[in-house]
Amino acid sequence: MSIHDETSKRGLDMLRDPRYNKGTAFTREERQKYGLSGLLPDIVSSLDMQIQRIEGHIRSLPTDIDRYVYFSDLQERNESLFYHILMRDPVAYMPVVYTPTVGLACQTFGRIYRRPKGLFISARHRGRMVDVMRNWPESDVRWICVTDGERILGLGDLGAQGMGIPIGKLALYTACAGVPPHLTLPIVLDIGTNNEELLNDPFYIGIRQKRLAGEEYDAFIEEFVSAVETVFPHCSIQWEDFANPNAGPILERYRDRISSFNDDIQGTAAVGVAGILAALRMKDEHLSQQAFLFFGAGSAGTGIADLLCNIMVAEGITIDEARKRCWLVDSKGLVVSSREDLADTKKPFAHDAPHVSTLLEAVTVTKATAIIGTSTIPKSFTQDVIEQMARNTPRPMICPFSNPTSKSECSAEEAYTWTNGAAIFASGSPFLPVELNGTTYYPGQGNNVYIFPGVGLAVYATQASRIPDQAFAVAARALASMVTDEQFAKGLIYPPMSNIRDAAVVVANAVTEYLFNEGLARVERPADVATFVREHIWQPEY
Ligand code: NAD
Repeated sequence: MSIHDETSKRGLDMLRDPRYNKGTAFTREERQKYGLSGLLPDIVSSLDMQIQRIEGHIRSLPTDIDRYVYFSDLQERNESLFYHILMRDPVAYMPVVYTPTVGLACQTFGRIYRRPKGLFISARHRGRMVDVMRNWPESDVRWICVTDGERILGLGDLGAQGMGIPIGKLALYTACAGVPPHLTLPIVLDIGTNNEELLNDPFYIGIRQKRLAGEEYDAFIEEFVSAVETVFPHCSIQWEDFANPNAGPILERYRDRISSFNDDIQGTAAVGVAGILAALRMKDEHLSQQAFLFFGAGSAGTGIADLLCNIMVAEGITIDEARKRCWLVDSKGLVVSSREDLADTKKPFAHDAPHVSTLLEAVTVTKATAIIGTSTIPKSFTQDVIEQMARNTPRPMICPFSNPTSKSECSAEEAYTWTNGAAIFASGSPFLPVELNGTTYYPGQGNNVYIFPGVGLAVYATQASRIPDQAFAVAARALASMVTDEQFAKGLIYPPMSNIRDAAVVVANAVTEYLFNEGLARVERPADVATFVREHIWQPEY
């Protein structure tokens, strides 16, 4: 039985519903059966023809934002075709529906907005969020991705225009891991913006006020979580792109109450740690021989450092010893114990060492073997810094993770050139391969997309009640174990993006196993975990 037989929709209603519409690919029999005769031109297209037509069109468009808008329209028109195309060639199309293009899409969201793909829950909805949530047409939602738009990628406060991020993220839950799209819901909490430019922009789509703060903000989040519990009781929450002062506290406040995680903290941590573990396998070195320097001590930087320590502790050292191997640099310089201005998240990493204020000094005094950039400061890994890294260790890890590309701490070309090809490089946004002295170097991309879709699938399949940090350590190890010797030979520390769907399944299998072992699954343990996971993978049907 096809999905079309499961709905009472007929005629134009079926064609206008992206979940059921397949445009000119409806067969003549289906046209008769569902009241579509005459509503479509005579031609009956095959899926391949439709894909060719769409791809041809996409190629003819002049800019990334045009391609984003075109894809967005396709998703609203014919969901199966959208996912067919995305799943067929994620390398080509993920950068269009997600980073880096989604950054630009959010910045211009007020101008390119067409139809709702999720919920805008605004400050006006206080006291009635349950009713607002019930306006969503699906009664069973399993994954909400939610942002308050305050720290969109490295672009800062984009208010309600941050909606592009949950939409893109959830599209990748489906495209990479096969989480059923109708069970996912993007939400933006439109609590205002402090971005003056947006407040003065006539096309800004959000509520025109300064952000709620303090108790009002906390009460808003509390009402949101309660509403999710009431309206979608089996739902998990992915917190996304919250500003640093809110991200950690929200995660801590709710993680033991509702199945939830913060991708900027835990997803980033897992992908960062996976890259580090793979690089050490490549170099045949141990965690104990390293000094990790995190430039940018926000959610991402401290998240990676925390998970790395968690893994070192599991390998048998004390937490204090583990933290001694991790150094943070924030906007005031090296995080050391003599500083009195440190946030709680940074304090555990404060070393008893003299304070230095520049990154170059920090790299020198810490003898860093790996430098991880999560600062949003473009070009901050200068030639001096990278050359010093190469003096510290024969194969330094250089990881400018800030997104989008315009915020990257250095380019792949710079890292390879300034280390004479010795760098093990992975960035947040993609870079093209680099030719240097007759050798081609393949930059890795430490994209969270290696982690969150697989975790999402595992949590959906098991209906997990909680998502502990340990699930992300499991995901990181699973991802790191996938990198082959052949990929190491090319300098890669992540599987190629073309294997992203396999990576999601490997991560999902490992995390599913872990969730069952920990008693966190709310379904019966199956005889075979891999088969169980596979059975939960949605495929676009035609
Ligand atoms: P955040 O706002 O929590 O942290 C940014 C930190 O950088 C802040 O602590 C800020 O004080 C610090 N900073 C600012 N100026 C600095 C300076 N001059 N020197 C040193 N530090 C400085 O944001 P976040 O969630 O940690 O994300 C940071 C960046 O990492 C963003 O660009 C984001 O897109 C990127 N990121 C990448 C990935 C990935 O590629 N997998 C994942 C998550 C985040």
